[in-house]
Amino acid sequence: MSLMRCPLCREALTREPRRWFCATGHSFDVAREGYVNLLPVQHKKSRDPGDTPDSVRARRSFLDAGHYQPLRDRVQAMLAPLQPRSLLDIGCGEGYYTQAMATVAGEVTGIDIAKPAIQLAARRVPALTWLVASAVALPLADASQDVVCSLFSPLPVAEMHRVLREGGHVLVVTPAPDHLWHVREGLFGEVRAHEPDKFLRDFADSFELEQRHELRVPLQLTRQALVDLLAMTPYAWKAKAERRAALEALPDVATEAAFSLMLFRRV
Ligand SMILES: [Zn+2]
Repeated sequence: MSLMRCPLCREALTREPRRWFCATGHSFDVAREGYVNLLPVQHKKSRDPGDTPDSVRARRSFLDAGHYQPLRDRVQAMLAPLQPRSLLDIGCGEGYYTQAMATVAGEVTGIDIAKPAIQLAARRVPALTWLVASAVALPLADASQDVVCSLFSPLPVAEMHRVLREGGHVLVVTPAPDHLWHVREGLFGEVRAHEPDKFLRDFADSFELEQRHELRVPLQLTRQALVDLLAMTPYAWKAKAERRAALEALPDVATEAAFSLMLFRRV
């Protein structure tokens, strides 16, 4: 039985090596790198939605340097006891965390709206299913997933609920209130704390909070690491150019990453 659904008509997608297609006649080519673009033109808000190639490259360079390895390890440790046979990673980016998820899960699907990110992911870990797709309408069958993950990514509550089997789990990672405080102070002068719990009331009806952890990771950033970090965070675009330049001119910066990790059970 196909786990994938056509983004245009919701019919089951048949997977072939070169193309995926539905009974209605919609067809999607498998790209040279092995991913499939399921983002219909009419679902795009812009021609190239999501992260730009530059910001995707910066993210990979920052992550490959190991700064967020403790988060990757913690995500893996939280998922391992669930022994998921199927797992969906929403907003997977270039696949840094998805790759770790795959070591403790069976069939793994990573989706992201940014094609440059999915291209990098598919090149690095060809064995997984990589899709350019929107989180608003997940291209997956009802109750087809044991686990859905969303790290710093959209939280389409109804869609997550639909694709999860009963008793399945959602892992959400958001920035804790004081995430990268010193960096944000440098960018903006004054900082407003993140509100990691804003989304919890949307979850209350259909999910039960099972675990909640905070993870703090001290960071000692070289100039290059900081430049990469700024290129991959949404903060930097909102900062004044001269503030960003001053920060990027520092030889090194000490700050702390702080993450909220929450594990929910579908009820
Ligand atoms: Zn179709």
